Amino acid sequence: MKNKKAVVLLSGGLDSTTNMAIAKEMKFDIYALSFRYGQRNSPELEMAKNTALKFGAKEHKIIDINLASFGGSALTDNIDVPKNKGDQIDGSVIPVTYVPARNLVFLSLATAYAEVLGAWDIFIGVNALDYSGYPDCRPEFIAAFQKTANLATKAGLSQKNQIKIHTPLIHLKKSEIIKKGDALGVDYSKTLTCYDPTPEGLACGQCDSCVLRRNGFREAGIPDPTKYVR
Ligand code: ZN
Repeated sequence: MKNKKAVVLLSGGLDSTTNMAIAKEMKFDIYALSFRYGQRNSPELEMAKNTALKFGAKEHKIIDINLASFGGSALTDNIDVPKNKGDQIDGSVIPVTYVPARNLVFLSLATAYAEVLGAWDIFIGVNALDYSGYPDCRPEFIAAFQKTANLATKAGLSQKNQIKIHTPLIHLKKSEIIKKGDALGVDYSKTLTCYDPTPEGLACGQCDSCVLRRNGFREAGIPDPTKYVR
């Protein structure tokens, strides 16, 4: 079978890297898409470049969209990243690390890229479990977006094919994502998930994302290769 093209959103974090490994396993030709959106966590883009190379992406686009120009999130604005929340990471309150409509923006651009490529498949590593309750990570959002993408594009009107949004991680726990990626040969030392890393790319070890990642490795019974500040 001839390879099919897929646009794969890639932040350089644990989830998006595993998501790419799954797209590769499914024998898609990978067209990676990353964003420099004004995030604190910019060392992750260096990880993303390496990951795209490692998985043999046909192309890796890094697009500048400065979401920091209106801020509104601890990841893009002068708001402290919450640390050491302990048991409060339960998804009942949407935390300040939520970036307004980020996945809506990212998926819209991924759809445009897919249409230009003639690709029908888009992969995004969103996860509705073990996460912080972000509204743009929910299955109902993804289903609604897929419908929108097909209504909004010339490609979607062709009726021969339909754009499909793949979310292979959406119902997995963090430890299940790690086990899956480990089995597919993902080197998690080459991923960065921290919301507030040092400029050298060390993880803080205390933000929600670091805590979920640490717990995920522990629960999976796989050594955590992450370099933490402490
Ligand atoms: Zn952190």
